[in-house]
Amino acid sequence: MNIFGIRGGAKVSGRKELTAETPVEKLPMPRLLHVPLQQHVGSPAVPIVSVGSRVKKGQLIAESKGAVSAPVHAPTSGFVTRIGNHLAPHPSGLPVLTLSMEPDGRDEWCKLPEPLELETASPKEIAERVSEAGVVGMGGAAFPSAVKLSMGDKYDLDSLILNGAECEPYLTCDDRLMRERADETIIGTRYMMKALGVSKAYIAIEDNKPASFKSMQVAAGENSGIEVVYVPARYPMGSSAHLVQAITGRETPASGRTADLGVIVNNVATAFAVYEACKLGRPLISRIVTLSGEAVKRPANYEVLVGTPASDLMKQSGGLIEEPKQLLMGGPMMGQPLPNLDIPIVKGTSGILALRGTEIPEQNIMPCIGCGSCVTVCPAGLLPMEMMNRLDHEDVDGADEIGLRDCISCGSCNYVCPSHIPLVQFFNYGKGRLKEQDTDKARHVKIKVLTEAREKRLEKRAP
Ligand code: SF4
Ligand code: SF4
Repeated sequence: MNIFGIRGGAKVSGRKELTAETPVEKLPMPRLLHVPLQQHVGSPAVPIVSVGSRVKKGQLIAESKGAVSAPVHAPTSGFVTRIGNHLAPHPSGLPVLTLSMEPDGRDEWCKLPEPLELETASPKEIAERVSEAGVVGMGGAAFPSAVKLSMGDKYDLDSLILNGAECEPYLTCDDRLMRERADETIIGTRYMMKALGVSKAYIAIEDNKPASFKSMQVAAGENSGIEVVYVPARYPMGSSAHLVQAITGRETPASGRTADLGVIVNNVATAFAVYEACKLGRPLISRIVTLSGEAVKRPANYEVLVGTPASDLMKQSGGLIEEPKQLLMGGPMMGQPLPNLDIPIVKGTSGILALRGTEIPEQNIMPCIGCGSCVTVCPAGLLPMEMMNRLDHEDVDGADEIGLRDCISCGSCNYVCPSHIPLVQFFNYGKGRLKEQDTDKARHVKIKVLTEAREKRLEKRAP
């Protein structure tokens, strides 16, 4: 298949060899689980069990609330020991409402819903099942998948792209999933295609993962409407806009959605979760997590229950060789720095990294030398040094004028900058300021509309 050229992108050091060649290992049952009730984009789930309740594996423990939300299920059988705030898997360090439970060691399933047959299930039934199973985007975005799978109602869709690019360095959880669970992932893809009403799906894999490519190609078979395609190993190949550009040649408009172009993008691990939900009736209660970095004694991929403390994961894998210079959740390009390992693994956790000083880019910041490397690599076609310059002078509107909102915070500019300027931190700050301004503007518009409506009402009442 012909792959279209993409704009920008950087060749980054993969460090995938630390974990890519060993099979996924199962983690022993943790002593305690801390299951956050907000692991997704949207409203937090609301607990429906209380402290002291015995719950079974897969049982609904918190209901979704609102149109964009996701329910949460018990990762194993045991007793609810606490419902209260716990450190969130987020660098803010802010606590979120979390249900803690003590496993009883029996790992006893609750009664699961009957399998949905692909041939007879309607698109609506598939989306409902995915919603009930609490499936969210597992590439890190954690957007409730049922909302995406219902987009066929509103958009004129023609294809689904499954992201198996895994362009972030160190992470290999999707690579291992595609090698070890290809058949199940392809079945999940078929359910997704049916829900969206599309007859074409592409599985996009970077051209440095031949083993994944082969296993997915065999599982997809011929004439299935599912095509496994190589995309260039160039960061950030896994961004939705880039996958759509590379595979279909269509450009996602600024601040637009790929659905506007007829394409829905999902992660391969999400397709596996859809398989488990539809075919086995199982909710999303575990995932594959890459534990890596040179400070880790035994880097590997693990099947981990949601709610497992990251410290347990580290302990079970042999612990640390030395005090890490940096802890991250996710990859080094877009991952979130962690203050410690007290946070639990959630549905969107693709990796936990513990890095040595030698693995972290030079921190010695120097003035911009105007080399233009950041412009060359920017996949969004922006002028990072100029945006940084404007933000440095508190000119947020000026940065907005030259495309700040189109920045996807991929970190490519940071990576190549010879002056080690933390460009993406400027952009995240600027985008935060823009959000505040938007909220203020929306508030002013609302006040204006309400005031005008009130004045009109008073005019009508006037004798
Ligand atoms: S972080 Fe933003 S400005 Fe920098 S390369 Fe990525 S998209 Fe471009
Ligand atoms: S890469 Fe760094 S030094 Fe070069 S122009 Fe961009 S900001 Fe300046």
